[in-house]
Amino acid sequence: MASASAKVVTRFAPSPTGFLHIGGARTALFNWLYARHHGGTYLLRIEDTDRARSTEPAIEAIFDGLRWLGLDGDEPATFQFERSARHAEVAHELLAKGAAYRCYLTPEELAERRAAAQAERRTFRIDSEWRDADPATWPADAPYVVRIKAPREGETTIADEVQGSVTVANSEIDDFVLLRSDGTPTYMLAVVVDDHDMGVTHVIRGDDHLNNAFRQIVILNAMGWPVPTYAHVPMINGADGAKLSKRHGAIGVDAYRDEMGLLPEAVFNYLLRLGWGHGDREEITREEAIELFDLAGVGKSPSRFDIKKLENLNGHYIREADDARLASLVAPRMGPHADEALLAQAMPQLKLRAKTLDELAAGAAFLFKERPLALDEKAAGLMTDDARDLLARISARLVGEADWTVPALEANLKAFAEDLGLGLGKLAQPMRAALTGTTTSPGIFDVLALLGRDESLARLDAQAARAEAGPAN
Ligand code: GLU
Repeated sequence: MASASAKVVTRFAPSPTGFLHIGGARTALFNWLYARHHGGTYLLRIEDTDRARSTEPAIEAIFDGLRWLGLDGDEPATFQFERSARHAEVAHELLAKGAAYRCYLTPEELAERRAAAQAERRTFRIDSEWRDADPATWPADAPYVVRIKAPREGETTIADEVQGSVTVANSEIDDFVLLRSDGTPTYMLAVVVDDHDMGVTHVIRGDDHLNNAFRQIVILNAMGWPVPTYAHVPMINGADGAKLSKRHGAIGVDAYRDEMGLLPEAVFNYLLRLGWGHGDREEITREEAIELFDLAGVGKSPSRFDIKKLENLNGHYIREADDARLASLVAPRMGPHADEALLAQAMPQLKLRAKTLDELAAGAAFLFKERPLALDEKAAGLMTDDARDLLARISARLVGEADWTVPALEANLKAFAEDLGLGLGKLAQPMRAALTGTTTSPGIFDVLALLGRDESLARLDAQAARAEAGPAN
């Protein structure tokens, strides 16, 4: 545990320009876990300063996805755009201190200089003559941007908790813009001011932001603010090692829930182990994760997102999940006839075979089919005249069964199979087709028990009756 004087504050700072994707969700998780592990605070900040690309549905999707994963912030979220005045205030403070300057270079001048550098094959640097101009000479009514006076000598080192020690020569860092010519703050400035004002002690984020950290430190130093601890987590690639894309299943967290039917605990566990490990441990509960999580366990190389593994893991969590809960999650996927109580009864059987809620719904579909059942191709193929004849005999036999339970039905049909000199499978095959319309289902006695006496007999009879009417299809 950290000492009270250094209370840990982390944050997740998504830009609401798209859905909450797998990388963002993992960043949120690591920040959440780090704060929990250290008894600290985990904050949310919506970085909505890109007004053209930030949307309300994206903000909602982020909140929704985080809530689903149990990763809501400990306090109401901060919205970056609302704090623009505060960001500008800091820029003006830096101007007043002489740590920033008004730069009156026009975009055309900059473009010319950039082109000249390119032509001469040298790296372009902003080398503004305004950097050292006396503020008394600043024109009153010409447009300008505010630039930081970045140090040109020496170097900056970040002791990154994941990347290790990373050093950059200060000459590499431009006098970047703090305030645009319309007076709006840049992203670089906003992040630093917000992190400072929110008391963020640990910045855990994707390593695509490592370069930004060196710029952000320039502002921190100029303001005399403490530099947070950084942890830049490697990217997530597809299972084939290529940059993650939709093709790899890199869809929004909402689609994992709604379209694929994954359980939040499965996604939580998968994200946790995507880039972080604790020995060989595979399944880790939330509580264990809080206890075990540390940045030392975060690897330096990109992790690989494997949707198949995530699905398999989900299958595991489905088998562990409470039946009534699964029924309540599956019912809305099944149309208006789904009966939650019956679904819950069927769950112990159904969940043995399903990796997703969608597969559970597909497996449960037979329960709510209308008579006469439409048979799928394989099931229809089983419906020979012999099979129909057999179904009629099975039905006639089961009418006499007073105890409609799995053990009684099993004993009854086993004895009947023996009388007929047939294997039980010979009976079960056409029964399954007649009772479920398919050739895969829970065990045949479970199917009978779940459907109940009346429905089971009616389904058997409906198929048997087709014998007299001639071929069904
Ligand atoms: N808003 C940035 C992003 O979504 C994150 C900035 C940060 O974590 O510092 O990539």
